[in-house]
Amino acid sequence: MPDRAPQPVDRQLPTEEARDLISLVRDIAQREIAPKAAEEEDAGRFPREIFTLLSESGLLGLPYDSEYGGGDQPYEVYLQVLEELAAARLTVGLGVSVHTLASYALAAYGTKEQQVEHLPAMLGGGMLGAYCLSEPSSGSDAASLRTKAVRDGEDWVITGTKAWITHGGVADFYTVMARTGEDGSRGITAFLVPGDAEGLSAAAPEKKMGMKGSPTAQVHFDGVRVSDDRRLGEEGQGFAIALAALDSGRLGIAACAIGVAQAALDEAVEYASGRRQFGRPIADFQGLRFMLADMATQIEAGRALYLAAARLRDAGRPFAKQAAMAKLHCTDAAMKVTTDAVQILGGYGYTADFPAERYMREAKVLQIVEGTNQIQRMVIARHVAGPESR
Ligand SMILES: Cc1cc2nc3c(=O)[nH]c(=O)nc-3n(C[C@H](O)[C@H](O)[C@H](O)COP(=O)(O)OP(=O)(O)OC[C@H]3O[C@@H](n4cnc5c(N)ncnc54)[C@H](O)[C@@H]3O)c2cc1C
Repeated sequence: MPDRAPQPVDRQLPTEEARDLISLVRDIAQREIAPKAAEEEDAGRFPREIFTLLSESGLLGLPYDSEYGGGDQPYEVYLQVLEELAAARLTVGLGVSVHTLASYALAAYGTKEQQVEHLPAMLGGGMLGAYCLSEPSSGSDAASLRTKAVRDGEDWVITGTKAWITHGGVADFYTVMARTGEDGSRGITAFLVPGDAEGLSAAAPEKKMGMKGSPTAQVHFDGVRVSDDRRLGEEGQGFAIALAALDSGRLGIAACAIGVAQAALDEAVEYASGRRQFGRPIADFQGLRFMLADMATQIEAGRALYLAAARLRDAGRPFAKQAAMAKLHCTDAAMKVTTDAVQILGGYGYTADFPAERYMREAKVLQIVEGTNQIQRMVIARHVAGPESR
């Protein structure tokens, strides 16, 4: 059996422009991102210069309005870009997804004046964003958050601690959900806080199992003062904005998961066709051939599911249920596929000499972020069976 070098995914893309975009992304991924991924992940180095390059290349604002520096791309294209980036390095793919999530509140709920003032720098001017919802004592139950914003004349004063913030300490802007009113989901308001605001500081990054190059840190707000023109949406609308952002964000996580899974499958196929045991390539053995077939099927099913949800979104139709399904399926598939890739590589799969073990560690976090997969099931069940009676 000949060696099987991985072939690029044959993508269904709606326009010539989208095909050019994917070629550009593959080129950047192959030349700039993938070659340093293993070494920098091992060292826990955040590749800030890659995000600057992506911003300069028009890749940090793809699904947003070109009037403000965005790329005017449909979600079905943007998500396939994310998939390619995540396959090269999850820290980059997920970083772009989080930046897009952080830009959402302003792009979808900001006033025209706010958008003109801030969006161009965020979508193509080199800025990097962070999204601040989680806190040390409120994760899945995000509506119980305690960070406060108190009105003081024309300003708001924000005090509290956000937890698990991707790009915490390196972001140029933070989209922050803070309590401005009653307990529960209706007392929360969204704010756009500059990264250099006085009183804002980040703790040392968490020491994580994977995605070590992506800084995840607590962010402290110690009397951070922002003027009312940095309030995004209405007072009390912040939680609805946060959830709307997450519906789209979950599609980004789904696409990243398929990227990691595809990279793991490619690695497994290449290894299995080269490694010989019992006088034959191990890819000849039906036990492994069936594993590879199942891995490929899970990936294709996941890609089809996130693209179906994206196309609903692009058509202006409701897509929250399908986004939760895509996040659930794609991240569970990535966990299974990456675990199987380690198995196919045998002992070598368990070493850092091959990327399979990194993919497996990276897949795990995708089952947790932007709503754990238990929370996705709750969301799906509400669509299927209606709200819980209580
Ligand atoms: C690397 C990383 C990056 C992150 N980036 C960000 C970010 O940029 N911004 C941000 O705001 N947050 C971020 N998060 C936080 C992430 O969204 C939360 O970790 C996640 O929502 C879960 O919250 P928690 O960790 O507090 O777990 P908990 O909510 O305490 O959950 C613990 C366990 O209980 C389960 N559980 C909880 N409630 C239920 C229920 N009702 N039914 C069944 N099971 C339940 C959960 O599924 C989980 O298995 C990040 C997290 C990580 C690890």
